[in-house]
Amino acid sequence: MPTSKKSATHSARPSRDASKAGTSRKEKSATPVVQKSLSKYRSKRNFSVTAEPSGEKEQAPNPEALRFVIQKHAASHLHFDLRLEVDGVMKSWAVPKGPSVDPDIKRLAMEVEDHPVAYNTFEGTIPPGEYGGGTVMLWDRGKYSPDEIDSGEDANAAAKRALASGKLAFTFHGERLQGSYALVRTRRGEERAQWLLIKHKDRFAKAGQDIVAKVMTSVDTARTMEEIAAANSDEPNALDEMGAVAPMEPTLAPASVPAGEYAITEEPEGKRVFAFLTSGTVKLTANAGSKNFDSAAALEGSPNAAAALLRMARKIEGAVILDGYLSPDEFVVADVLLVGNDLQVEEPWIARQTSLESLLDSQSTGTKSGTAALFPMPWVASTAEHVHSSSAEIGAPSIIAKRIDSPYESGASKYWLRVSL
Ligand code: MN
Repeated sequence: MPTSKKSATHSARPSRDASKAGTSRKEKSATPVVQKSLSKYRSKRNFSVTAEPSGEKEQAPNPEALRFVIQKHAASHLHFDLRLEVDGVMKSWAVPKGPSVDPDIKRLAMEVEDHPVAYNTFEGTIPPGEYGGGTVMLWDRGKYSPDEIDSGEDANAAAKRALASGKLAFTFHGERLQGSYALVRTRRGEERAQWLLIKHKDRFAKAGQDIVAKVMTSVDTARTMEEIAAANSDEPNALDEMGAVAPMEPTLAPASVPAGEYAITEEPEGKRVFAFLTSGTVKLTANAGSKNFDSAAALEGSPNAAAALLRMARKIEGAVILDGYLSPDEFVVADVLLVGNDLQVEEPWIARQTSLESLLDSQSTGTKSGTAALFPMPWVASTAEHVHSSSAEIGAPSIIAKRIDSPYESGASKYWLRVSL
């Protein structure tokens, strides 16, 4: 039984050689201007959960050596993040298709919040459910320089002026990208100004080449996205903590039922399983920690339930673990143990039931014919005095009475009481 309700995955690690990214200058506290620029970045993130940098300690900017980084980010949608240093922060754009080296191809770049310079060495995973949850790869890095610098300006002032005017011509001095590009603003907007990223014709231009398809590894660690994700998956997280959780089972109701409020359910039918749903995949296990259950065979026998579970798995953020009963036509959900990487096992039953019902409500869980294949187990409220008579009252040969304030316990529990006629 896990002891903590919430579990964070501190799974990203800083790049092994930060100096390569040009971050070797002495750290000092960020200036008030930098702090203000980063307020939106900070407000979107919980730094006790994500391993992304808060940017509280920033390097002093060098106005003549501006840094850039491009990160490949498999969040809800795969995209590339272009970041250019201006005034000590990284101005950032989400580029859905990534940069191109072909001057005939214009790439949409959506302006997003400024990031701290410390983000330039971030590669790893952002926990599911957190802002931008997913895998981050360092795809390119280096310096950039504005192509037009007025007299009396330094590079930083020139970049700042050009961006404010809506057109920056600049040159990448990266490990993967070189040569001159233009960033051109096509639509203003407080939140989401749109820009185009266009390669200028120069000796680094390569007509017809798709560089983001060609270069699939980290510029820092040479890892693929899959390797970055896998490296982090063996660090402890909520799913690992689930390993020790076995199905909660009822015990025989004592003659004198302990006082409290109860939820009465019929004795469920079907095969008791835990369903792990995460990013489009469904796994069934007989025990939360078991890896020996044949999900494919079990789901093959229940195509409607399999389809409903899969639809749900494609829509959820993070992971969900359901405790339920699988039969040929349906999956009846009795409990929920994990939602979006937050353990639910210490929540009272009634709170788990509420999150379970809203979780299922928010899904389209029916089959095409309109018959629900995935739904919460029906229950009625009762009290201790009525537990023994409830079996006869609802006309079921056997019922289970669940204390509505009970946590989820592994194995036989005094909180769940079985009454048979
Ligand atoms: Mn991103």
